[in-house]
Amino acid sequence: MSKEIGAIEVHQFSCLSDNYGFLVHEPQSGETACIDTPETAPIMAALDEKGWKLTQIWNTHHHYDHAGNNEEIKRLTGCTITGPAGEADKIPAIDRAVDDGDVVSLGALEARILNVGGHTLGHIAYHMDGHAFVGDSLFALGCGRVFEGTMAQMWGSLQKLTALPDGTKIYCAHEYTAGNAAFAVTIDPENEALKQRIAEIGRLREQGLPTVPTEITLERATNPFLRAGDGAVQAHLNMQGAAAVDVFAEIRQRKDNF
Ligand code: ZN
Ligand code: FE
Repeated sequence: MSKEIGAIEVHQFSCLSDNYGFLVHEPQSGETACIDTPETAPIMAALDEKGWKLTQIWNTHHHYDHAGNNEEIKRLTGCTITGPAGEADKIPAIDRAVDDGDVVSLGALEARILNVGGHTLGHIAYHMDGHAFVGDSLFALGCGRVFEGTMAQMWGSLQKLTALPDGTKIYCAHEYTAGNAAFAVTIDPENEALKQRIAEIGRLREQGLPTVPTEITLERATNPFLRAGDGAVQAHLNMQGAAAVDVFAEIRQRKDNF
């Protein structure tokens, strides 16, 4: 699946059992970045198919399905590797460590770094006009498990992503949407927008089509983890008037046990 988006092109493909790989291409300079390195063969095949030469890897966090093939792909392509400063010691072959507010260039394209720690302590996202590559921080109708950070840190990270402009496409790293939908409806059962979306997700998955990328306006309206401050969600959980971060923690704990 490829699409032209102004000056850049994003190519998305499947890796491992449920990861997505993404190539971002800037045609003026010919530069191409790979978001994370879940699996070598499909990444190299995607580059071949597009006729693009990999110049950069942009890592979101240190987990094996995100940075595990850095060294091999760097050896094969001679690319440079940018990754999260907060966990730079765990990113193989890293060249440049970046954190919140830093800017990473791909030819004429500039991506701004957001620190979205929580799933891992140093997790980062790459945001450029209209597109955000978010790794395992935010998922379609879900969010990453809080492995290393605190619930408050993760909630703060989700607030940064929620604040991205309307229409921003969200490229999450896994196809977890059908499972997330089954959980979401237990938290927010009266949400009409969620019900419509779940029907659409069913149609897409029946045809084997991806539900990624998603879009931030749709996530704000339907993702239970982003709706921890919503009155209907709080009422359903018997947490009316509670702090949103506490409601978020309750929802995250329920999902861990779902
Ligand atoms: Zn992960
Ligand atoms: Fe992952």
